[in-house]
Amino acid sequence: MAANDKVLVLNTGSSSIKFSLFGGTAPSLLFKGRIENLFSGPTRFVVQDTSNEVVHEQSWPDPLDHAAGMRALLDYLAQQPGGRDLRAVGHRIVHGGALYSGPQWLDDTVLTALEALVALAPLHLPHNLAAVRAAIAMAPGVPQVGCFDTAFHRAQPELAQAFALPPDITDLGIRRYGFHGLSYEYIAGRLPDADPALASARVVAAHLGNGASMCAMARGRSVASSMGFTAVDGLPMGTRCGAVDPGVVLYLIDQLGMDVAAVQDLLYLRSGLLGVSGISSDMRTLEASGEPRAQLAIDLMVYRIGRELGSMAAALGGIDALVFSGGIGENSVALRAAVCRDAAWLGVTLDPEANAAPGGGVVRISTASSTVSVWVVPANEELMIARHTLDILGQP
Ligand code: ADP
Repeated sequence: MAANDKVLVLNTGSSSIKFSLFGGTAPSLLFKGRIENLFSGPTRFVVQDTSNEVVHEQSWPDPLDHAAGMRALLDYLAQQPGGRDLRAVGHRIVHGGALYSGPQWLDDTVLTALEALVALAPLHLPHNLAAVRAAIAMAPGVPQVGCFDTAFHRAQPELAQAFALPPDITDLGIRRYGFHGLSYEYIAGRLPDADPALASARVVAAHLGNGASMCAMARGRSVASSMGFTAVDGLPMGTRCGAVDPGVVLYLIDQLGMDVAAVQDLLYLRSGLLGVSGISSDMRTLEASGEPRAQLAIDLMVYRIGRELGSMAAALGGIDALVFSGGIGENSVALRAAVCRDAAWLGVTLDPEANAAPGGGVVRISTASSTVSVWVVPANEELMIARHTLDILGQP
């Protein structure tokens, strides 16, 4: 591999920086890791090789901020072969607004436009931008590229992006954006490798991790998504509630006297699997628990996925394939079985053996005669970002 072919991919949150280093034109993963407990300390830095073996660990008793975390990462990279010569940094950025339907060079103009979007994603975008600023300051001259979770959904029909609100409200940017777009774009790209017919198919994909959403795709393009104005809409998630009647929010404020911070805390951090079960936001813990409340939380997630699946099939005018991805979608045999059981009316027939041991890579888990084919596709947003970053560098 040439020395200057490394792309660093960053996914920065409020308390962590997840990173992956890619090399080559394909590109392929060299190593990955995370810096966690930023701001709350002790901050921990972990690097894993491509087999997930921990190859480096470091910790600081006092918490680091984003800039200090970035410094530690760049110092580590500088000690690695070719790590001083980054070709580019690709950033996962939660929001690109209505403007950006693809990756962008993060120049001053784009950064100014993104600053103006902070109000749309106040929990995530400031942290994404903090990492961009730190990377620009510490690696001057290295191109910085932004890849947006919303961009893939900008292809949706206008109706799919609209709320039934007056135009003066819509004009403020209050509309459906959709998220997890990099994951869905990756899935759309992988499916035709497994079955070329899927390139022109009607596909519903479910990215089920700590955040969870579904996306309807026709011919590899997003047609509808379960997440809307924010990433709290749609399915119940680890700690997020998913869709609730907006009247609930009014009631919480008006009758229970909750302020914005309290409502946000409830809807984002104390709901979903954690809120319903009262036990955990982690699907593994819930599946291992014998508690009825744990089962109720799982049942509610399965039920909402089934309802959303019907809605997505309607948006597509039918469905040819169903895809599971994300930590839960890739690993929970029981959840996939329950979703597919409920989707029998759509023509889904699961192959229980294939479902029990899907292995790695893109795997079909439906029977050969199932009208709707069902797939497991491991999520890889980082690779999507690395590809986008290299693509944009190649453009004039
Ligand atoms: P994030 O959205 O933070 O990237 P992940 O995609 O890693 O999260 O998904 C995390 C979820 O995946 C957790 O609920 C976790 O319990 C679940 N998960 C991981 N492995 C398994 C497993 N073997 N069985 C069931 N659920 C699993």
